[in-house]
Amino acid sequence: MAAMQDFIYASLPQRVRFGRGTLAGLGDELERIGSRRALLLTTPEQAGLAAAVRDAAGGRIAGHFAGAAMHTPVAVSAAALAELRRLDADALVSAGGGSTTGLGKALALRSGLPQVAVPTTYAGSEMTPILGETAEGRKTTQRDPRLLPGTVIYDVDLTLSLPPGLSAVSGMNAMAHAVEALYAADTNPVIDLMAEESVRALAAGLPAVIADPQDGAARWQALHGAWLAGICLGNVGMALHHKLCHVLGGSFDLPHAETHCVVLPYALACNAPAVPQAMQRLGRALDAADAAQALWQLGSRLGAPRGLAALGLPESALERAADIAAENPYRNPRPLDRPLLLALLRQAHAGDPPRPM
Ligand code: NAD
Repeated sequence: MAAMQDFIYASLPQRVRFGRGTLAGLGDELERIGSRRALLLTTPEQAGLAAAVRDAAGGRIAGHFAGAAMHTPVAVSAAALAELRRLDADALVSAGGGSTTGLGKALALRSGLPQVAVPTTYAGSEMTPILGETAEGRKTTQRDPRLLPGTVIYDVDLTLSLPPGLSAVSGMNAMAHAVEALYAADTNPVIDLMAEESVRALAAGLPAVIADPQDGAARWQALHGAWLAGICLGNVGMALHHKLCHVLGGSFDLPHAETHCVVLPYALACNAPAVPQAMQRLGRALDAADAAQALWQLGSRLGAPRGLAALGLPESALERAADIAAENPYRNPRPLDRPLLLALLRQAHAGDPPRPM
């Protein structure tokens, strides 16, 4: 029986189109929001998406800004905003991973224009009203209902080109949202169901994606899991794992998805004694007695990087990382202190299977 715990459930207003070949519905979606002159956003690496997007949009794309970059630098947003004004655009179409979605959100905030997000990774940003921006090396994060894309088109076919290495770490990044949702202080029964199903879908889908990146059924399952994980991230508060990754990315410049992938089993091993119900759900979803071990094994099976050392973090940085992580207290099911954070970081640095903390 579920634990008796009061909760608040509020769903976010969004329209999601999910499937294979769904990009073809972009014209209809733009029509629905009354857009005739949308600005397309991509990274330089994904500029090649423009032809397919223009085709699908049926003449409703007014221009293309191919400068989206990791961590949403405000200088990039300013340049894109100038292009948006020059074109007199009436909507934003962001086609790409979390970096591109982030640029769409930054522009929506500055212009008030509606967004259509077309995600091509498993990051989940398209389902959240959250934006992290960087200016002069400092990252600030904000939550605002205006940031949430009103329309999201998940096209499984657009994920077929995501290289196996990126698929692995991006998928584990999604997994982290679902894992932390299961012990969020503000969770609710709907999010619990979504989070458990997300973990199950990602754990089944990702190994099959790595075995054959062109396997449409596996890609479907992984993207389905990532969508659910994104809902979790958008609806409830994250804890230890996300905060640590924020520190490691923000202060030590470690890569986003890779860092999530490395840290997750250790963050879960640390919180495990304080979250028996979440561990039970995770054990069920992962079909394992010890969910933290199972996540470590899954990462290994996917060929993902093991250990912060492998991501280039020197051992000498661990003390400072523990200082920063301990500086600003945040909500976490297990009370945290500097020695515990340092023990966790040392394990994550070495990359061996997680041990009880
Ligand atoms: P990304 O968007 O930076 O993409 C990584 C690289 O992969 C880019 O070069 C991109 O062009 C390429 N790529 C993406 N999809 C591809 C595909 N299908 N085929 C081939 N290449 C492809 O990486 P990401 O992990 O998706 O996003 C990370 C960023 O998103 C970080 O800045 C992170 O902070 C942010 N994020 C924000 C939220 C939020 O809720 N605000 C949530 C998750 C991530």
